[in-house]
This record gives sequence, C-alpha cells and structure tokens, in this order.
Amino acid sequence: MQTSLPKEFLQTKEGLKANEILRSCVHCGLCNATCPTYQLTGNELDGPRGRIYLIKNHLEDQNDGSVGLRHLDRCLTCLACETTCPSNVRYGHLLDIGRKHMNQAINRPLASRIKRHLIARVFARPYLVRAMLALARLARPFLPQDLATKIPARPPASRALAAKSGAPKLLTIRGCVQSVVAPQINQAAAKVLERSGIGLEEAKGNCCGALSYHLADTAQAEKTIRRNIDNWYPGLAGEYQYFVVTSSGCSSFIKQYGEIMQTDSHYAERAAFISEHCRDLSDLDFAQGTRAVKETRSVAFHSPCTLQHAQGVLGNIEGRLEDAGYRLVPTTDPHLCCGSAGSYSLLEPGLSTQLLENKLDSLEKGEPDIICTANIGCLMHLQSGTRRPVKHWIELLV
Ligand code: SF4
Ligand code: SF4
Repeated sequence: MQTSLPKEFLQTKEGLKANEILRSCVHCGLCNATCPTYQLTGNELDGPRGRIYLIKNHLEDQNDGSVGLRHLDRCLTCLACETTCPSNVRYGHLLDIGRKHMNQAINRPLASRIKRHLIARVFARPYLVRAMLALARLARPFLPQDLATKIPARPPASRALAAKSGAPKLLTIRGCVQSVVAPQINQAAAKVLERSGIGLEEAKGNCCGALSYHLADTAQAEKTIRRNIDNWYPGLAGEYQYFVVTSSGCSSFIKQYGEIMQTDSHYAERAAFISEHCRDLSDLDFAQGTRAVKETRSVAFHSPCTLQHAQGVLGNIEGRLEDAGYRLVPTTDPHLCCGSAGSYSLLEPGLSTQLLENKLDSLEKGEPDIICTANIGCLMHLQSGTRRPVKHWIELLV
C-alpha cells in the first residue's frame, strides 16, 4: 500500500512504525474472512482492511476521525485478522496508533467520555469492583432476570499463596477483576504447580494496565506499567524464574510492556526483561501429575483471542485436559471471539451479545458437562449466557 504520511510524523518512532505496517498491507482482503465484526455487519469499514484504510486516511490528512473512530471502536482487538494475514501485517500495533490519534482529534460526547473513564478507573481497582458487586447482589431481587444472571456468584474464601522453602518459585498477578470474582483460579494454579514441586506467589499490584490501554488512556496505562515494573522487577531479577499469569488477557498485555515502554529511557530495559520473562500458565512447561479421581466428564474449550491469536498458543490446554481424562467435545469456528474483549461487552453490547450467542451455540452443540476457557473476561461473559458451569481450565486439573 502506498503512503504519504506527514514528514513531521515520519520523524517519530510511531510514525515510522505506522508507515512500515501500512506499506506491508497489499489490501488483498483475506483478513475480512475471519473478522467477527465484518461477518456480523457486512460493512467493509467494520473489517480489518477497511479499518487500515481509515487509519491511513486519518494519519495522512488529519481528518477529524469521527467516522473512523466509530469503526475502530467496534473492533474487538481479537487479532484473528493478524493470524489470517499472509503478509504478516501487524494490525494490532497500527490499531493502537490509530485509536490514540483519532481519540486525540475527536471530542467524544460527554456521556461516552464519562462511561469510558469510569470503566478504566473502577474495573482496575479491586476495592471498587468489590463494592460494586456487593451493591449489585443487594439489588439482585429487583433487577430484570437477564441483568440479574450477569452478577457473578460469590467466590470461595482464599488464602495468601506461599511457596515451600527451597522450591523453584514463580510470581503471578492477582488481577483486578479476577482477584474479586475468581481468586480460586490462582489457588488452583498453585495447587497444580505444587504437585510438580513449583511454588507460586502473588506479586504486589493487581492490574496489568490493559483496560486503560485499550480504552486509549495511554497515560494511565503507562503509570500502571511503571508501578508494576517497580514492584515486580526486583523479584523477577532475583528469586523468581518467571512471571506466570493465569488470565491470557493479562499475560498477552504484559508481554507488550517492552514494546510500549521502549521510548522510556528509565523503564525500557526492565520492561523488556519483564516481557521476556512473562508466560501464560498454559504455555509453561510443568508436569501436571496424576489426579486421584478418574475423570469422566466432557468439556468444551474456548480459546481466548488473547491466547490463540495474540500469543499463538495452540493446543496446549486441550492436551492437558485430555491427559487428565476429560473428553473434549468438538466446537465450530474456534477462531472467533466470544464478544467479551475487555470492556467491549460494556461499550458495544449489541455486537457483543450476538457474538456471545454464536459462541455458546458452538460450545454447547456437543452437550458438554463443562465449558472452560483461559481468561477471566471470557469466563464471566460466557457464564452470563448459560447455566452450564464455565470454569478456568486449571480448576479442572486440581
Ligand atoms: S491486512 Fe493482510 S490480509 Fe488484510 S488486506 Fe492487508 S495484506 Fe491482506
Ligand atoms: S482485531 Fe478482530 S475485530 Fe478487529 S479487525 Fe481484526 S479480526 Fe476484525
């Protein structure tokens, strides 16, 4: 694709990156075939090729971005298009740049700004999530059925994780939402790792910063990243071997710390170190050991986009479940997003609900006893649409 970005922009690292990505696209449109939003709306501008054009036009002629931003907002950042693209176009990086510039150029309506600000601030703070859930549970009897079923059940009590002395140790993150609605996931990971002699401990700090970053609140995201680097680096450069994460949305984002902070002379090196030492739990090499119970249940597995497309981890969880005795039921279109996508279900409820219904049809076709996944956002979103239990895969290996 030919480009003519402004000279001043081309003198920045961001401008060079955008130019390189735009030029790598040969506008073949193959990516549209696997794009969930293009499949639902049939609008070229709701597919990756159309969005690439919108970003190019905005960066070239500095238009006000009002048309483009609507279509970028509808993008799930699922990266199915990156997996499909034969030219290896790094769409996700271009999208980050496009969103940032269009957000700066356009004045969103006040209600939209307040909603986005609240989502970024409330969901990143466990005490606020806890308070909000407590209020929602009190109000549950008065809420419409479809809203009441979306309120997560109270999780079991959890204890602080502590590795046995002398064991090799890994560090993990509690997660802003996960620490409140499903602390049992990290507990399950610790138990399974302990069977192979590995200790797991939780680091200081709850939020990885992904929520703010994907809402184009770059300043807030970088503030969170810097705080995490200060908290995590000393341990990771010392006694802990890896930073291992049970939620693929967070592991995927922490792996981007190095790239996001590369122009920050004070943090760049440590950010890159943390990214290199970050692993999704499903991508960690450990012996899972034999469980006492003979497993007879069937499972449908949903691989989050942040695992299969963003990190390229394929088949590991399915293999572990089968090794443990579970029968995996086949599903259709496993590459498609479930519609959770961070804050997407709150900001684009229409498209998100359609994707959820399609995903549940696919997962439930084989009548599994359990549905499982690898990301807290997908888990909650899927559970909001079905009575069948939805679990994190590591909970099935305890
Ligand atoms: S992003 Fe890739 S698949 Fe899509 S139009 Fe460009 S080159 Fe083709
Ligand atoms: S990230 Fe997902 S929703 Fe966005 S353009 Fe690519 S395939 Fe479509």
